[in-house]
Amino acid sequence: MKYDVIIIGAGPGGIFAAYELMERRPSLRVAVFEAGHALDKRHCPIDGEKIKSCIGCKSCSIMSGFGGAGAFSDGKYNITNDFGGTLYEYIGKKHALALMHYVDEINLRYGGEGTKLYSTAGSRFKTVCIQNDLHLLDASVRHLGTDINYIVLENLYKHLKERVDFFFDTPVETIRVNDGGYTVLCKDASYECEKCIVSVGRIGSKWMEKVCAELAVPTKSNRVDIGVRVELPANVFAHLTDELYESKIVYRTEKYGDKVRTFCMNPKGAVVNENTNGIITVNGHSYEDPALQTENTNFALLVAKHFSEPFKDSNGYGESIARLSNMLGGGVIVQRFGDLIRGRRSTANRIEEAFVTPTLQATPGDLSLVLPKRILDGIIEMIYALDKVAPGTANEDTLLYGVEVKFYNMEVEVNDKLESRHKGLYIIGDGSGITHSLSHASASGVHVARDITG
Ligand SMILES: Cc1cc2nc3c(=O)[nH]c(=O)nc-3n(C[C@H](O)[C@H](O)[C@H](O)COP(=O)(O)OP(=O)(O)OC[C@H]3O[C@@H](n4cnc5c(N)ncnc54)[C@H](O)[C@@H]3O)c2cc1C
Repeated sequence: MKYDVIIIGAGPGGIFAAYELMERRPSLRVAVFEAGHALDKRHCPIDGEKIKSCIGCKSCSIMSGFGGAGAFSDGKYNITNDFGGTLYEYIGKKHALALMHYVDEINLRYGGEGTKLYSTAGSRFKTVCIQNDLHLLDASVRHLGTDINYIVLENLYKHLKERVDFFFDTPVETIRVNDGGYTVLCKDASYECEKCIVSVGRIGSKWMEKVCAELAVPTKSNRVDIGVRVELPANVFAHLTDELYESKIVYRTEKYGDKVRTFCMNPKGAVVNENTNGIITVNGHSYEDPALQTENTNFALLVAKHFSEPFKDSNGYGESIARLSNMLGGGVIVQRFGDLIRGRRSTANRIEEAFVTPTLQATPGDLSLVLPKRILDGIIEMIYALDKVAPGTANEDTLLYGVEVKFYNMEVEVNDKLESRHKGLYIIGDGSGITHSLSHASASGVHVARDITG
């Protein structure tokens, strides 16, 4: 089989690359290979009753399949260069923002119309934060919500499947460089193409590493973010979330000078498990539909850990910490802030008696046995700092779930077209290590499609 373009991975990066290719040159023969299921076949078996925690499915429906890791996400498209990736370093700030706005327009056209765009511009919280040594980052946030995000994906798929060949449940094993193009090898067949766009996301990080080694594409890796997911009554953060929806707040700790930041805020949302290569960590999401909302807000507090030479395996470090929590708790551990401060574990009784009802069934335990002291100290300092702008954050019953790890793919060497040293082999999205968000990953897809179609 010979295609003009093969896209590996049907996450936001791959989807928007396919979309833009079809918009600009509908005659192109394009195929998308996806290790996970089609959208309507994606179901996580955790139902909270019979199956309460991750059973390690062969293909994780939360992370894989049409829509990628973003399919059941909160659908927060952050239009900013301040976080979510470093795409602007490759293509320039103005262009990166323009592409993110373009993606936003498409999302609106395919089902997101009527969803709210929040903005930090002119927010009084910027001043309130800075007065308390906290720094609110600038962004516009389109909140699609998990439900609308799904509808947008459904509509995009309906639109694309007419002209693009989708191969689901078809992991690509490797890529070979041949004369004038590439051979994409799957288990039972191989396919030829002139150009290849690789968009394998976080779940494809190990595969990406292998392919880069085989094709001699240089990579570097030195960062991992480690922390907890905080869950508290929604009214504690309501003054911030009602106006901004998501606030990215950064704090520099007094003790070590480390940066701690809030990440992925889900007003009236739920805490969820995340499975990365068999390791269970924690994440969160929320719904636009009021009927599906909870009484709690959750967000992550993450400490960025950068390593210098000779240590290269920053993700391995994060995985070891997550594994430790899995070993002690059989999955994710939950602890009341009050128990953590008193140096005692949380028990099922203490969690049950708390005023905050957990939205995720996790094992009550002691996070101080899992997280390195420096990271835990940073998190505790930040909770007290946040308590000044959102009183109640440092309440005894505030729940901390651990661990949340933000793995960064190693950064792949690409040029300003996001093309590797092999002509026509593009590496985009979170799999490239350049993006870490829906909007940046999607924008990177549009960028390469425009380069291909000229
Ligand atoms: C629970 C959760 C909530 C999130 N919430 C948000 C949010 O609100 N806002 C935000 O900006 N970001 C959020 N994120 C992050 C966001 O989902 C990612 O940044 C984004 O999906 C990256 O897009 P991508 O296309 O690069 O990769 P992905 O979305 O990870 O897609 C990659 C795809 O490639 C496939 N693949 C991997 N290897 C192969 C292979 N060898 N062959 C074939 N296919 C392969 C995978 O199965 C996957 O479907 C969230 C992530 C999670 C897990």
